[in-house]
Amino acid sequence: RINDSMGHEVGDQLLVEVANRLRGQVRANDIVARLGGDEFAVVLRNSGGRHDLLGLAEKVVAVLGRPVRLNGRDLVISTSMGITQAPHDGDSASQLLRNADLALYASKRRGKNCVEFFNIDMQREASQLMQLEEDLRHALSSRQLALAFQPIVNIEQDRVVAFEALVRWQHPEQGLLMPGHFIPAAEQSGLIIPLGFWVLRSVCQGLVARIEAQRDLVPVALNISPQQFRDKHFMTEVAAILRETGVPPDLLEFEITESTLMDNLDATIAILNALKGLGIRISIDDFGTGYSSLALLKQLPVDTLKIDRCFVKDIGENEEDRQIIQAVIAMSAQLDLDVIAEGVETVAQRDLLHAFGCRQVQGYFYGRPVIGAIPDTGRLLPHTAD
Ligand code: C2E
Ligand code: CA
Ligand code: CA
Ligand code: CA
Repeated sequence: RINDSMGHEVGDQLLVEVANRLRGQVRANDIVARLGGDEFAVVLRNSGGRHDLLGLAEKVVAVLGRPVRLNGRDLVISTSMGITQAPHDGDSASQLLRNADLALYASKRRGKNCVEFFNIDMQREASQLMQLEEDLRHALSSRQLALAFQPIVNIEQDRVVAFEALVRWQHPEQGLLMPGHFIPAAEQSGLIIPLGFWVLRSVCQGLVARIEAQRDLVPVALNISPQQFRDKHFMTEVAAILRETGVPPDLLEFEITESTLMDNLDATIAILNALKGLGIRISIDDFGTGYSSLALLKQLPVDTLKIDRCFVKDIGENEEDRQIIQAVIAMSAQLDLDVIAEGVETVAQRDLLHAFGCRQVQGYFYGRPVIGAIPDTGRLLPHTAD
């Protein structure tokens, strides 16, 4: 299933176009094959040296990058390429393909439209990744994961209005690991699914414990990964955890990134409606990094936009970032959505956001994520202490 950036499916026509363009770049007895999904293999005989190969690869990337006219619109394809050479990089087709795949992943990590040759370090990295996955599997079953909670603050009322739950890994040898270290591996291995449900269950249990202890209560937001969101058992499992813990669903907010939501819009709307049906609130995380239009947003049953930290960072100096933030705030007012600005570290950032009409922020200025149980709402406002 292949979608364009607006979420429309463009599968077969696009694949045929790609195959034709690839064929146009190679000789008659070379092989162009589709491996599945949006991946192709090109096998060249007597391909020449590295230099020639790189020249050809870059030409292919350029040719594939020319707009494709489909359904009256121009689509632009980006290409990532990994290259292996026989016999140097492997002596069987399967090994060459496996190593090309490692090179492909390395090229994807570098960004769009990159070409990468296989090298032996990639195998070492792959086995480190496998080790990480094994450790993480163990961590899940042996209580090495923990949650940190960071306040989301209403800056007009100086009040904590919610917390975001952020996962941490207390690794027995390596110490405290941040999600950037292990979430990608969890995504790649599928472990993100049990990890995500562990986070949800823990948050629900934490909220119920506060209710039973008659402590103050604000909603808790948690992150839903792309894979989790697309998992076919997602809704049943969420419903089961709500039932099992008895948490009031309106105390939960699911944060889903803009790019995850925009990938296959029809499915997205169905899942969001089902979540809303359960009473769960929805935020669009990292907003502004994708390409959502007002028209698109109108279709989504969401409650909150979280403006990505990268726009807040240089808000004082960067006019463009300021304009984006102001546009997002104006857009959300029109759609009656809440806005949260992420990554607020300084009083200057806070004041500018306030002047733009943003009422909710999250960031080190008001409080870092703190490991432990869900905190009380009263005690995390450093700038009100004076
Ligand atoms: P995110 O959802 O955008 O979460 C906000 C990240 O920004 C957190 O990083 C938080 O500690 C950090 N942050 C908050 N305020 C500031 C600030 O003022 N300045 C700076 N520089 N950073 C700030 P963290 O905890 O390392 O998490 C990184 C990412 O990992 C999260 O980004 C989220 O995408 C992912 N993540 C964290 N927990 C989970 C989880 O339970 N499940 C899933 N699927 N992903 C998670
Ligand atoms: Ca792909
Ligand atoms: Ca988040
Ligand atoms: Ca975010």
